[in-house]
Amino acid sequence: MWSYLIIFHINLRLNNFHLSCCVNTLLQTLSATWELADLLEKWEVTGLDSHNVPLQLKRVLSAMRSHLPQPAPHHDFLHCLDRNCIRLNTQHDADEVFLALLNLVQQQMDDKSLALKIQDLYRISVETHLQCLKCSSIQTQSSYLLSLPLHIKEDHNSLEDCMSSFFEHQQLMGINCCFCPACESNTPSEQAVKLLSLPPILCIHLKRFRNSRGYTRKLDCRVTFPETFDFYETVKKAFSSNFAQNDCRYSLYAVVAHSGTAMFGHYTAYIRHWKNQRWYYADDSSVYESSWEGVQSSYGRSSRGTAYMLMYRRNSKEVNKAAVRPIPSHLQPVMAELEDDIILVLERRLVISPLSSSSGTGQTEHTSGARQCKSDALGFSRVAGGASVLTESQEASKRGAPIQL
Ligand SMILES: [Zn+2]
Repeated sequence: MWSYLIIFHINLRLNNFHLSCCVNTLLQTLSATWELADLLEKWEVTGLDSHNVPLQLKRVLSAMRSHLPQPAPHHDFLHCLDRNCIRLNTQHDADEVFLALLNLVQQQMDDKSLALKIQDLYRISVETHLQCLKCSSIQTQSSYLLSLPLHIKEDHNSLEDCMSSFFEHQQLMGINCCFCPACESNTPSEQAVKLLSLPPILCIHLKRFRNSRGYTRKLDCRVTFPETFDFYETVKKAFSSNFAQNDCRYSLYAVVAHSGTAMFGHYTAYIRHWKNQRWYYADDSSVYESSWEGVQSSYGRSSRGTAYMLMYRRNSKEVNKAAVRPIPSHLQPVMAELEDDIILVLERRLVISPLSSSSGTGQTEHTSGARQCKSDALGFSRVAGGASVLTESQEASKRGAPIQL
């Protein structure tokens, strides 16, 4: 029965341990990527040590799916990352850690077929056309990305504009000239990137950290993004003539937000629960119910953080079909009852908090000690047996967070 119950909850609460807010937000995002957790659950692990990243990832995502009245344990995962050069007590870039994690899964998973399926979840296949501006010959190369890195301008941006810019033809001149085999020399050229296929999970990286003369600064400018969009309608010119998929519609289900500067900052996440479709705001071990309006506050200059990574899920039938898992007929009445219980508990006990006054404004580097001392405000999960696991925080009550019984 347990295997049917655990699909209904995610425990998003994770303590901040040795400045782990960056990894915490990624785990919160990955735990909402049920496709990934499902693939890892299928992995039959034999004889791997505790330094194996995919093994520890499988364990921590499994723990986040189970009934835990306290934040999910992830110390082993963090120490495992530390042994794999993603250090504790270090400020990390969420996109870099995300890509490093996916690479470590490919390198360290002994089931290569399953590892490729995990990569395919995020794989954006592209072909690059490079046309020599001297002789007009064209070189074509296929490659792939695991996240779409979007350049942002210093003023107002929209995701649609950023995506459109990514697929614009680009002239490569001067030191950027490429070698042309026909001319047998480096020549000016024009480069175009075209989509060959889109993944079930589209990870978008808004490039807010900019290096200039050895100095990194953060762009806090506003970037709007939609809750749903059709990639084809948004950037028609992005598609190769070899692109063969039918449905390119996507829905947002997670946002990794960053507050602070390039030197000192803090990560939080907005997560949409796939079952009840409600948005939650996760700040390490504090989790609050949010809303689409709350998510939109991460467009820019918010004390709760500015969107840095966006996770969209493709709306295609084969993806959504996987979300509807068969429940045996004898369990269906029990499940229906549990569903009523949890919704009731959410409605009675969860009051949306004015978060700007209570959390997410501090910087981890200065507040992690205090952050770890905090009790947890709210977690959302559900329990075998129908009991609620929503917990109210004494600390939250002390600081005036509107927790009601
Ligand atoms: Zn040429």
